[in-house]
Amino acid sequence: MTTPLPLFRLDGRVALVTGGSRGIGRAISETLAAAGAEVFVNYARGEAAAKETCEAIRAAGGKAEAVCFDVADTKATEAAIDAIAKQKGRLDIAVSNAGISIDQLLIRLKDDDLEKLFAVNLRGALAVARASIKPMMRARFGRIVFVSSVVGEMGNPGQTAYAATKAALLGVTKSIAKEYASRQVTVNAITPGYIETDMTAGLPEAAKKAMLEGTPLGRPGTPADVAAAVLYLASEQAGFVTGQTLRVNGGMYV
Ligand code: NAP
Repeated sequence: MTTPLPLFRLDGRVALVTGGSRGIGRAISETLAAAGAEVFVNYARGEAAAKETCEAIRAAGGKAEAVCFDVADTKATEAAIDAIAKQKGRLDIAVSNAGISIDQLLIRLKDDDLEKLFAVNLRGALAVARASIKPMMRARFGRIVFVSSVVGEMGNPGQTAYAATKAALLGVTKSIAKEYASRQVTVNAITPGYIETDMTAGLPEAAKKAMLEGTPLGRPGTPADVAAAVLYLASEQAGFVTGQTLRVNGGMYV
């Protein structure tokens, strides 16, 4: 009989969470740190939120450090990730969570907005993966998790451009998973449904009601719901899971 490992512990692991300062990313940072990982909490503009998240992690006995870079700036992103890997001698877990939404009907969609969405949600995610994979390949261990969206799977009126970026991440996940499986790096995506964060707070009440009605579990998701799925995918126990999409959507899309 094999002795089971302690469930979902990340002691000794070094993790990066992009957009780790607020919303879903903050819950991911806190959850990975509570499991024992040292977490680099990335942010682009909100330094105060990033500091607050790191302080909360430290107050709970965890290890965290804020790191500022805009994922749309691929050179800065790759330099920051290289620096983390050099400083720590490793990078075990990279969670590409930073994302923006710009909602517009197709006929009003501006090229500039389309480009902004792709720069952050797709090119930024690729830059994170490209830089993270190097120390992971050397270590013959790695966990990459992309935060995509249910919208990338089922579409949504007014979110054509956002859906394009999030659907693209699912193809990216499968390709990178196949490319680096031989190095024991796993690559998976999470597709959250309607989660209560700053991103969804400003939506019209009618839109929130429609999303709730489309959620069989009858409640909005919480950042902690998503963070628990990330913790699983980042753990030893998920070592045979790669190229997959884990849906955390309350049944909205099955
Ligand atoms: P949020 O509350 O708006 O938080 C966004 C986070 O991303 C912040 O930490 C923000 O940091 C960071 N960020 C934004 N642009 C960045 C950039 N260019 N470079 C680095 N960091 C950047 O969003 P959320 O709701 O937590 O969403 C997190 C992820 O989940 C996104 O990818 C989103 O598309 C996805 N998602 C959300 C939902 C939902 O219902 N909320 C559903 C499905 C998928 P700063 O404050 O410093 O800019």
